[in-house]
Amino acid sequence: MYPIPGHLAFAASSARFFKVSIPVAVIASFVPDVIDKGLNDLLQITPYGRYFMHSIPSVVVCSVLVGWLWGKESGWGWFAGHATHLVGDLGSFLPLWMPLVQYDWPPDKNITLYAITNPFRHLFSPEMLSELMMGIWTLALFRFATNADRFSRVQQLICYTGIWAYGLLRVWLG
Ligand SMILES: [Zn+2]
Repeated sequence: MYPIPGHLAFAASSARFFKVSIPVAVIASFVPDVIDKGLNDLLQITPYGRYFMHSIPSVVVCSVLVGWLWGKESGWGWFAGHATHLVGDLGSFLPLWMPLVQYDWPPDKNITLYAITNPFRHLFSPEMLSELMMGIWTLALFRFATNADRFSRVQQLICYTGIWAYGLLRVWLG
């Protein structure tokens, strides 16, 4: 999944929905790619661009750590951002149970280099359009989330369900 607005939509809308820290969730939704792609694409010391930060144990460890350092709301915020990042990435290879399971790493591809050298490659692709749609849904969600009346809440729920249904559809289609 592209980092903006897909991961951001998942993270921010989940944090809003569960009433946990939105800024922490947004940070947590980017950190897995910053660390794992940094280690692989830039420093080239790991075998693949999705590593420990793309595992369920890392979600648990980081959430507990953040909660311990900055309080419960931040801890749950981290959980919302990090967990939804993994959901957004589910369509392709993920070392979900690292380090409990040994993985055969797929052929490595330097995605960061690829994105830098082909900046317009995906700009007008269907994937990008769908990411944009998710961004619009998220904006709608935020718009209605501030109003507490029943009608707004129902619309928020529809937006939220739409984002998740759409995310799952993408996972299913690969
Ligand atoms: Zn990722």
